[in-house]
Amino acid sequence: MRILLTNDDGIHAPGLRALKESLAVLGEVYVVAPDRERSASSHSVTVHKPLRIEALDTRSWAVTGTPADCVKIALEVCLKAPPDLVISGINRGPNLGTDVFYSGTVSGAFEGVIAGIPSLAVSIAVEGKDEIVNLDYATNFTRFLAQKIHRRGLPPDTLLNVNFPNAPKEEIKGAKITKLGWHRYVNAVHIREDPRGRVYYWLAGKVQNVNADAETDTAAVAKGLISITPMQLDLTNYRLLAELESWQLSKDVT
Ligand code: MN
Repeated sequence: MRILLTNDDGIHAPGLRALKESLAVLGEVYVVAPDRERSASSHSVTVHKPLRIEALDTRSWAVTGTPADCVKIALEVCLKAPPDLVISGINRGPNLGTDVFYSGTVSGAFEGVIAGIPSLAVSIAVEGKDEIVNLDYATNFTRFLAQKIHRRGLPPDTLLNVNFPNAPKEEIKGAKITKLGWHRYVNAVHIREDPRGRVYYWLAGKVQNVNADAETDTAAVAKGLISITPMQLDLTNYRLLAELESWQLSKDVT
């Protein structure tokens, strides 16, 4: 099995290193990851400046770009043949609900899906400065899931988004297949003043769950369950297609 790893915490992040070691028994593990932290870079790609690649060993490359850049560079430059699986992570911090739209971790995996490769995004829901307490367990579980995907496959436009509670194995209640929740941030913009008296703004805020029913990823992790959400590229709202047809929109407007 050939696996490509990327992340958005940067190539030296503990979650990526631990995963690389854990997966080595499965076959060839390649790492192409940002040279520094690029969390919350979503699916951005670098098109207005050059990208540089540094080979760290025969199977690891640091790239001066985003996770999406890294997967493109991996597939076209670093790897001689496409991998069987792309894994993005293991991220420090949750990627739950609508936060997936901001996530560089999830977008690294989606870039794999766009290229037609089964992909997995993995995160541990550690908050703030807390220590990650279950990296060994999360890497073992991810290895098990990687083997499962290799055997059973995934639909071509689909990835799995996995979030672990930050709890030791004994305290984790199980694994649950979930749907994406819906987060909204309250007090999202902090307004402050710099030492020269000029106002600046800092995005932060507290999550408010617009949808926190029991089937959501957010609710599962809050209950101590590992959340596994199948996500698809196609964002089309098929239920609205016929309704919009009835609007009779044409090129001629009056
Ligand atoms: Mn991150």
